[in-house]
Amino acid sequence: MTDLEIAKTITLKHISEISEKFGIPSDDIEMYGKHKAKLPLKAIDKQKALESNLILVSAISPTPAGEGKTTMSIGLSEGLNRLNKKTTVVLREPSLGPVFGIKGGATGGGNSQVLPMEDINLHFTGDFSAIEKAHNLLSAIIDNNIQNKTNSLRIDPRTIGWKRVVDLNDRALRRIIVGLGGTTSGVPRETGFDITAASEIMAILCLAENLTDLKKRLGNIFIGYTFDKAPIYAKDLKAEGAMTALLKDAIKPNLVQTIEGNPAIIHGGPFANIAQGTNTVIATLMGMTHSEYTVTEAGFGFDLGAEKFFDIKCQSAGLKPKAVVLTTTIRALKYHGGADLKSLTTPDLEALERGLPNLEKHLENIFKFKVSPVIAINKFISDSDAEINLIKAFAKEKGIRVALAEVWAKGGEGALELAQHVVNIVEENKSDFKPLYKWESSVEDKISTIATEIYGAEYVDYTAKAKAHLRKITNLGLDHLPVCIAKTQKSLSDNPKLLGRPKDFIITVREIEIAAGAGFLIPITGDIMRMPGLPAHPASENIDINDDGEITGLF
Ligand code: ADP
Ligand code: MG
Repeated sequence: MTDLEIAKTITLKHISEISEKFGIPSDDIEMYGKHKAKLPLKAIDKQKALESNLILVSAISPTPAGEGKTTMSIGLSEGLNRLNKKTTVVLREPSLGPVFGIKGGATGGGNSQVLPMEDINLHFTGDFSAIEKAHNLLSAIIDNNIQNKTNSLRIDPRTIGWKRVVDLNDRALRRIIVGLGGTTSGVPRETGFDITAASEIMAILCLAENLTDLKKRLGNIFIGYTFDKAPIYAKDLKAEGAMTALLKDAIKPNLVQTIEGNPAIIHGGPFANIAQGTNTVIATLMGMTHSEYTVTEAGFGFDLGAEKFFDIKCQSAGLKPKAVVLTTTIRALKYHGGADLKSLTTPDLEALERGLPNLEKHLENIFKFKVSPVIAINKFISDSDAEINLIKAFAKEKGIRVALAEVWAKGGEGALELAQHVVNIVEENKSDFKPLYKWESSVEDKISTIATEIYGAEYVDYTAKAKAHLRKITNLGLDHLPVCIAKTQKSLSDNPKLLGRPKDFIITVREIEIAAGAGFLIPITGDIMRMPGLPAHPASENIDINDDGEITGLF
């Protein structure tokens, strides 16, 4: 059965029932139909939230298909609920780009899904649209200011980094010229579109703790310079009030349910390679306020997503995660051991063994944050017993907890062993989360710490352009911001071809972008795609709807 077919066999509970179970009176929620609702911000109690247990699900370096973090997070939350620990899974919202492109949705798979999956994957409660509007409002205000002679800030159009966004994979919009058509139609300049998930507003929404904080961060968006080289921020254009007004509902987290009828919160969806990659701080605090355990996801691999989760999100919001579940697949380890992508379903103990150093490095990295790990082997049908036993023996030798997790095939029942390990870690209380670096260190120190400690690089090299950007950051007084390194997820290094546990490599920073509103700097180490294209046969070719409004072909 496909994911959608499995989802359709489930009789959904009314969302008011889920919210009561979660701990918020149904009178206080804003319903979007029968199965989705927005939760009120007043239901967050930060003090109470910080006393509960936050569990991070991450992964080893993935294959292009994804190794199942979302599926694992959902299954683990079902497992913990089965052990009578009140648990909520808190996830990101899917972007339409991948839904119609290659990768597919982001609502889990098999018997570990959040529902209604067709709604969550398509528009959901309109958060992405609101972000898109707020982003494009600022773009329109910028072009209007360039056009206008009476209210001109004299922005130099060549210095503007702020583009437009749309939530689709549409490569034809990557580079465009706006303002064609004569004096009444704007000043021509080169710009382009990014996908909405890559918008700085998405990153801002995900770090904001309330409306006031959101508005302040929106005002701090850096736009470019005047002809006199003075920096221009969104607040100079008086844009932040209207932008915040557009986001008044998008800031509220969305409540849905899992296949087993437990609460799930889905909110925010920033890119994982250029932004912090995880759901909103607000959603995480909402889950934690009302649950004993909150399970959340950060990826792609631990090196990219979890490092940012810890150093940016956790430091920003004062969160202290108690355990890391490292999602591991036999197929990815074989891939890192040199097996061909096409042969990953064939048992191959030698390739698996050669791939283990990738797992080993991610485990070492988890310990650098002083949080206890458990390896979750995400079971695929093609995995052989011998392969599973090899990973278990490796874990045993290292003294690390390990569980075979059959969440895709069995839902919560397949996660009981994993859930018990998580409970044991929390009750043992040995984790004492510590970020890797202090925000106050110099930008170069911060980058170097991540590159050498987490990626395993020898040192960091800067292009002339990146060095100029370092000076610009110092001149703008933004050295104190954390760094959100944009890097490929395919390798621990910045070279996608270096698999396993690469050694003796150099990380090259090509440029450094400023996300002053979100509150971080983005050192860029490779070609980062902010507007993906569709494949020759996009997933959209399979998606359809019948006369009764039933959707088919959505994974
Ligand atoms: P991630 O969050 O790491 O990107 P997902 O949980 O979204 O990964 O899973 C990626 C894809 O792999 C989904 O289509 C999911 O249904 C599928 N998948 C995950 N785990 C399994 C499994 N054990 N067996 C088969 N398919 C799986
Ligand atoms: Mg995911």
